[in-house]
Amino acid sequence: MSAEIVQMKARGFICVNAHPAGCARNIERQIAAVRQAIPAPLSGIRSALVIGASTGYGLASRIVAAWGFGARTLGVFFERPPAPGRTATAGYYNTAAFHAAAGRDGLAALSLNGDAFSDAIRGQALERIARDLGPLDLVIYSLASPKRTDPRTGVTHNSVLKPVGRSFSSRTIDLDRARLTDVTLDPATPEEVAATVAVMGGDDWRLWIEALRQANLLAPGVRTLAYSYIGPELTWPIYKDGTIGQAKNDLFRAARELDAQLQSSLGGHAWVSVNKAIVTQASSAIPVVPLYLSLLLRVLREKGQDEDAIGQIIRLAQDHLAAAPRFDPEGRIRLDDRELQPAVQAEIARLWPQVTTENLRAITAFNDFERGFRNLFGFEVEGVDYAAPVELESSFAAG
Ligand code: NAD
Repeated sequence: MSAEIVQMKARGFICVNAHPAGCARNIERQIAAVRQAIPAPLSGIRSALVIGASTGYGLASRIVAAWGFGARTLGVFFERPPAPGRTATAGYYNTAAFHAAAGRDGLAALSLNGDAFSDAIRGQALERIARDLGPLDLVIYSLASPKRTDPRTGVTHNSVLKPVGRSFSSRTIDLDRARLTDVTLDPATPEEVAATVAVMGGDDWRLWIEALRQANLLAPGVRTLAYSYIGPELTWPIYKDGTIGQAKNDLFRAARELDAQLQSSLGGHAWVSVNKAIVTQASSAIPVVPLYLSLLLRVLREKGQDEDAIGQIIRLAQDHLAAAPRFDPEGRIRLDDRELQPAVQAEIARLWPQVTTENLRAITAFNDFERGFRNLFGFEVEGVDYAAPVELESSFAAG
C-alpha cells in the first residue's frame, strides 16, 4: 500500500478515520509516562489479560501491565483493520504501535481482534493464554460497547443512555456546531434498562472469569478489575441513576460474587475501580458529559490535578495493585477522589449556569476537550507532521 497524507474526517464528534503516526505518538507518550512514574518494574503481575485493550482505560491498563510490571499481555478488542484507501480505526493503530514498542523493549504481547462477547473469541483467548501466556495474575475488564449478542441465546441487546423513572432536562453541547443547547431525555422503558444491563453489566465479565477458572488459567492470588463511574449529582439522572448506572450496579454485584468465588478457590479478588471522567470515545457519546468534562478539565487543570487515562491507571497500579488496596465503605477502589472534591464540584456548579454558546470556549476548557477528542484518533498530536504521507497498512502479531 502506498503512503498517503491523512486528514481528519469528522462530522461533529464522529471521526471516521485515524492517523497512524499520531496514534503511535500517543502510545509512546503513555509508555514514557509509565517509565517516569515507575522507573523499576513493580512485582506481582507476570501475565495479564485486558478485555477492551485498544483505547481508553483498557489501553492504559495494558500499557501499565507491560511497562509498569513487565507483564506478558493478551489484549482483546474489536477494531477495523486498514483497507485500500481507508485507514484503520485508532484502536487498531494503537495496538500496532503497542506491539512495535513491546517488541523493541522485549515484552511479550499477543492480541485478538474480534467480538469479546462471543464464545469463539473467548475460546481463542483461552487457547492463547494456555499456550503462550501461562496462568493470569491480572484480568482487566474494560469493554464499552453499544451492543452485545448473548452467546447463550443469540439475542442482540442494544444499550441506551437514558434516565430511569422520569425524564431529564439539562444543558449539553451540540458537538456538531459547538453550541449550547437544552436536551430532554425521555425515561427508558423497562426493556431498555434490561438491555443496557445485558450489554454493560456484569454478565459477560462473569462468563470470562468462569471460563478462565474452569480452564485453570487463573494464577493463585489472581486479581480481576472492572471499571465504573459515579460522577457528581449534576450528571446522576443520566449516569449513576440512569440506564448505564443500573448496568454498573450489576457490574458491582458481579464483582462481589466473583470476589467470593476467587477468594475461596484461589485466594484471588474481583474489584470494581471507580475512575474519573476522561475524554474517550465512550464518554463523549453520553449527553451532558461533554459540557461537564469541559468544565472539569478547566477546574482540575487550574488546580494542577488533572489526570488522563494513563495517570489514573498508574495510580491504580501504585496505590492498589502493588500495595494493599484501599476501599470505600461499599468496597470499591476510588480513583475519582480528585474529581469529586467538594471545592472542584462547587466551582463546576457555579460555572455551569453561566456557560453560553458565546462564552463556551472562554469559560470552559472546551478547546481542550475538542483537542483531546481529536487526539484519540491520532489528530492534532504534538510533534506529528501531518503534511507528511504515512503508510496506512499496519499490522501486529495476531496472537
Ligand atoms: P473506550 O471506548 O475507549 O474503549 C472500549 C474498548 O472496548 C475498546 O478497546 C474497544 O475495542 C473494546 N470493545 C468494544 N466492543 C467490543 C467487543 N464487542 N469486543 C471486543 N472489544 C470491544 O472506553 P472507555 O471510556 O475506556 O471505557 C472502558 C470502561 O471504563 C467502561 O466500563 C467505562 O464505563 C469505564 N469508565 C470510563 C470512564 C470515562 O470517563 N471514559 C470513567 C470511568 C469508568
